[in-house]
Amino acid sequence: MRKIQKTVVPAEYQQILDKALELRKKDIADFRKNPPLKPTIGEYYKNFREFILKTHLQKCAYCESKIENQPGDVEHFRPKGRVTDQFGNIVNTSIEGKSSPHPGYFWLAYDVDNLLMSCIDCNRRRKHAFDDGEGLTSYGKEDCFPIKGKRAYSPEDPLDLELPLLINPVQEDPLTHLELEETGLLKGRTPEGEATISILGLNRENLRENRLDMMMAAEKLVGDLMAAKTHQNQRMVADCERRVYEIAKEKAAYTLACWKGLLRGLAPHRDLLSPNVLDLIVKSHEARMTADNFGGGG
Ligand SMILES: [Zn+2]
Repeated sequence: MRKIQKTVVPAEYQQILDKALELRKKDIADFRKNPPLKPTIGEYYKNFREFILKTHLQKCAYCESKIENQPGDVEHFRPKGRVTDQFGNIVNTSIEGKSSPHPGYFWLAYDVDNLLMSCIDCNRRRKHAFDDGEGLTSYGKEDCFPIKGKRAYSPEDPLDLELPLLINPVQEDPLTHLELEETGLLKGRTPEGEATISILGLNRENLRENRLDMMMAAEKLVGDLMAAKTHQNQRMVADCERRVYEIAKEKAAYTLACWKGLLRGLAPHRDLLSPNVLDLIVKSHEARMTADNFGGGG
């Protein structure tokens, strides 16, 4: 998981934004007529798909798998319909003393700030293998949205009092909450980190293996770059540097694994790199990583 830069929606989306606003007004009016019935949410939000995918660098916002050879879902961070807590229980609301299910954050259904691109494994409830030998277990976000604070039930309620347990990578830096172990397993540094790993199943076995592979590939890349420099193989140097830049710009899958591998590979060589590459690779990121990842160098 990586911090996703929030981007202004380009002008060519203005018609889509206008229509989204119109639908939002209609949904709120429908809700007011018949609370707590929830309005029918159409699929208009899917019109933002290409824009969101671009801001996410074609990756799942949660696990950072590439969304190239799979459909991927336009995901509502705050669920548009039913809401469940982290134990799968339906969240209820009380209107005029009568308890009924939370209507969902229907007023954010077309709000681009509430939309993320997700792979289907993170977004849908599916069975996955883990390396604990316990067989298949169901994970995936679906309509799960646990919070620590005060729940918003209607468009008038403030969202900033909710304090979600799930990390939104557009709004905060996941590195505050997560760290990557040498085994490829993610570990929570905070309750938010632990809840996010658990709800989305971010330690499912195929992801752990992919992160481990990426870590080793990034470490090897540094070795290849150094060897190419030693042998003055300029074509190879250029190719390796291009791949390093791709990692530096977080275009490759699994950013944390990439950086861990890259920094591990760089530790013995950092004095040999050209200053521009060193600046990009090291200085921009070393403050975000622990000193251990650098083998104590510096
Ligand atoms: Zn994912």
